[in-house]
Amino acid sequence: MYPPVSSQPNLPALENEVLARWAREHSFQQSIDMRDAGTDGSNEFVFYDGPPFANGLPHYGHLLTGYVKDAIPRYQTMRGRRVERRFGWDCHGLPAEVQAEKELGISGHPEISAFGVDKFNDACRSSVLQFTEEWRDYVTRQARWVDFDNDYKTLDLDYMESVMWAFKTLWDKGLIYEGFRVLAYCWRCETPLSNTETRMDDVYRDRQDPAVTVWFELETGERILAWTTTPWTLPSNLALAVGPDIDYAVLEADGERWIIAESRLGAYEAQLGEAVQVGSLKGSDLVGRRYSPLFDYFAEMPNAFQVLSADFVSTEDGTGIVHMAPGFGEEDQNACNAAGIDTVCPMDEHGQYTAEISDWVGQHVFDANPLIIRSLKDSGRLVRHDSYMHSYPHCWRCAEPLVYRAISSWFVKVADVKDRMVELNQQINWVPSHVKDGSFGKWLENARDWSISRNRFWGSPIPVWVSDNPDFPRIDVYGSVAELEADFGVRVADLHRPVIDELVRPNPDDPSGTSMMRRVPEVLDCWFESGSMPFAQVHYPFENAEWFEHHYPGDFIVEYLGQTRGWFYTMHVLATALFDRPAFSNCVSHGIVLGDDGAKMSKSLNNYPDPNQMFEVYGSDAMRWYLLSSPILRGSDFSVTETGMRDTVRQVVLPLWNAYYFLTLYAGAAGTTGSFRTDQEDVLDRYLLGELAELIDAVTESMDAYDLYGACEQVQGFLDTLTNWFIRRSRDRFWEGDQDAIDTLHTALVLFTRVAAPLLPMVAEQVHSGLTGEGSVHHQDWPSSEDLPRDPELAIGMRRVRDACSTLLSLRKSEGLRVRLPLASATLATPDVALVQPHIDILRDEVNVKSVDLTDRVADHGTEELVLLPKALGPRLGGDTQKVIGAHKAGDWSFDDGVVTVGGIDLVEGEFEFRLVSDAEGAAATLPGKGGIVVLDTVVTSELEREGVARDLIRRIQTARREAELDVSDRISLSLEISEVVADAFTAHQTMVESETLAVESSMKIAGGDEVIHVVATERR
Ligand SMILES: [Zn+2]
Repeated sequence: MYPPVSSQPNLPALENEVLARWAREHSFQQSIDMRDAGTDGSNEFVFYDGPPFANGLPHYGHLLTGYVKDAIPRYQTMRGRRVERRFGWDCHGLPAEVQAEKELGISGHPEISAFGVDKFNDACRSSVLQFTEEWRDYVTRQARWVDFDNDYKTLDLDYMESVMWAFKTLWDKGLIYEGFRVLAYCWRCETPLSNTETRMDDVYRDRQDPAVTVWFELETGERILAWTTTPWTLPSNLALAVGPDIDYAVLEADGERWIIAESRLGAYEAQLGEAVQVGSLKGSDLVGRRYSPLFDYFAEMPNAFQVLSADFVSTEDGTGIVHMAPGFGEEDQNACNAAGIDTVCPMDEHGQYTAEISDWVGQHVFDANPLIIRSLKDSGRLVRHDSYMHSYPHCWRCAEPLVYRAISSWFVKVADVKDRMVELNQQINWVPSHVKDGSFGKWLENARDWSISRNRFWGSPIPVWVSDNPDFPRIDVYGSVAELEADFGVRVADLHRPVIDELVRPNPDDPSGTSMMRRVPEVLDCWFESGSMPFAQVHYPFENAEWFEHHYPGDFIVEYLGQTRGWFYTMHVLATALFDRPAFSNCVSHGIVLGDDGAKMSKSLNNYPDPNQMFEVYGSDAMRWYLLSSPILRGSDFSVTETGMRDTVRQVVLPLWNAYYFLTLYAGAAGTTGSFRTDQEDVLDRYLLGELAELIDAVTESMDAYDLYGACEQVQGFLDTLTNWFIRRSRDRFWEGDQDAIDTLHTALVLFTRVAAPLLPMVAEQVHSGLTGEGSVHHQDWPSSEDLPRDPELAIGMRRVRDACSTLLSLRKSEGLRVRLPLASATLATPDVALVQPHIDILRDEVNVKSVDLTDRVADHGTEELVLLPKALGPRLGGDTQKVIGAHKAGDWSFDDGVVTVGGIDLVEGEFEFRLVSDAEGAAATLPGKGGIVVLDTVVTSELEREGVARDLIRRIQTARREAELDVSDRISLSLEISEVVADAFTAHQTMVESETLAVESSMKIAGGDEVIHVVATERR
């Protein structure tokens, strides 16, 4: 006998029971131990866990990623692979530092230094691991199997030593250099940022800035107009740039000549409307001309103050002439340096002017804007002053607007390995596949050298020591703790600042013995550290070198799409540069989870359901299914709602549970239990087992392709077949205690819960163990479809019947003809008559018609029409698309030798399809997949109407039986007070009513007022 099963399960309580059992029985560890690693790990499935920061609580994005990180390894385990899973923590970097500054109430480098770098870093250390316990709770509650005890942290000495090794190896390969380059810079955090950090979500936000147009005086006397939204950079203007092929107008007004791009004249109507055009020039004519500086701070700079040619000059806004300050713009710097103009950067680390800008020294550059504008106005240089709304980058950690400035920084020479990165990307399987050549591929093609140093405190040190006396230059780069210990003669137990900075030694190249080797002050970009995860987590190459050889690249990683510019990218750079291999073979990259209003999830907007509350109301399996079955796994963004989770319970979890409950109820009533069998003869049994075989194959294929969305779709489809077809059509057999039916349902549920185990791990666990009495479903082997009978003809015939049923039932609905009302006939015209014929009774019964006309004369009821698919046509045909659509409308098409030609143009597969269109009169519709056409006879005779009323009465009597809490087998005495219409129907169908309601006697009278149905048990089972 089966254990007792609740008809109304408390899902959260049930899940907690499963979690407790897993903990008690060490089910996760067992699932690893029971699978052999194979020679050199050949049977291992290698999963890399992308490390989160633990200085905040997990949100839906983390939960979603966590579900994928769990579902795939569970599947692979059932496929027989050994899947170790270690949790990782990202500990270093700006997120931790900004939080520590907030908590300590200090800000900026001087205050941190005064506070003490050691104490500051201690604060970072405790802040960054503040929420690890909460994380563990969430992750455990979401039924994710992962090893927390044997986790890795980027702050561990071993991890940091591997990172140091990576730096040194890149250095030895000539892939690291120090450069004075323009980078995005946060003046509050006092550090440069990488492209990765400036391309994260929310970095670009609207900002209002002043936009000014000023004139410069050319040596030839004209006034050339330039436009900028950063007036504070004008004091360090060193050049102007024009597009060589752009046309420039020379205008004259009041004896002055002005130069501006011709296409921009319209925008300066108010300023130059009175001027007369007296000439035109190509940009190339202007190149090389000198002009007088606007300010005199850098008046002596060699080669400065000339017009340069540049391809990036556009005429979309401004004047078509670009002001260049090489210290504050990357393009400016490249163009100026190429023309022999040095980079000057008169701004300090706080974003304030240095003494070079003597009039405004100490002024923050953003505050300087109005002062500069005032000065330009006073000197008559200001032609126009607007304000300009644009999308502007902000610091990803502290949200202050960034500036671009030239700064000394360490770089990885990504340009040197870029082509190889592009090649190696082709070896990676991306899900969804468009990411490979889309967002990731495009990002790789435009990859730039990576600024990896941060002028900060909490991170892996840049392991470079330099001589403090330029007369005796020397650079030492270290790649291990042992190398440090050898040179500095001390034991090194911590690589963090300030300890690491205390390692100082005399410069061996200085015979005077006075200069010292000191570490450069910067730390590494934390993305360099997370990108080192595959090897650093195992302390490669100092330990596990052999292991690493066989576990790299990893089989599988998953994160959200934005990591194509973050973690996916930094891993790929380091993998290519260090190992000439990809870091991972399969990468799932999902969309963003949004709030229920479609906006970004925000605590203050309260626009998403609290995850803990959802766990307590619907359970984690419902949340898991809800997220995994959403289009977010095909790369779309997705709004998370409580309704969605409630619907999942209703549409997926409960139907599964109800099927299980139904089995135990009827098997129990028959005093039996189901057994695993596949030799049943009944047509519905064989159909269900055949569909189960199809399910196993389809889900295997989807899971192998990391397509969880597809797997969910298939599982839900089968669940529908199981509950809405097999069980419903087999009720009588269950009622009779038919052992074949019970065994079929038992077998189907056992295999189904195995297939669904990665997607509904706790509900599947509970059902599976209730049915089999065996250990965890997650220790089972993945089922094989080969053990199940297949009957393709039966499958097609039955599917056709199901399609016909659901199509006829929707016709009934749209015609307002309730299902209990019998109709005279329905017609099914299908090419598969022979396959459908054996199941014609099911069709007749299901749609409640007296007879079904089955015919293969589809053409009598409809025609095949050519349908164009413009979405597919458009990209290939471009301008011809409309022509093809027009010709198709006009009937100008042919179909010869399998080739469709429309308006003289041959179409290719996928651009069209043939669709069956019904041309029968009245209630008719086509079946999916050209399966045929159904027609419903909608004429309701009085005889049919009476039978319908009788059937309505049966239903009301059944309800009365339930309300009287009678057992389904109790015989009853029935007394009716009913209207004349109902009485008429009852009289006509008394035998049917009595037999279907188990009435052994009945009395009936016409009701004066409300109708009354009274049932009394005469004989109890
Ligand atoms: Zn910042």
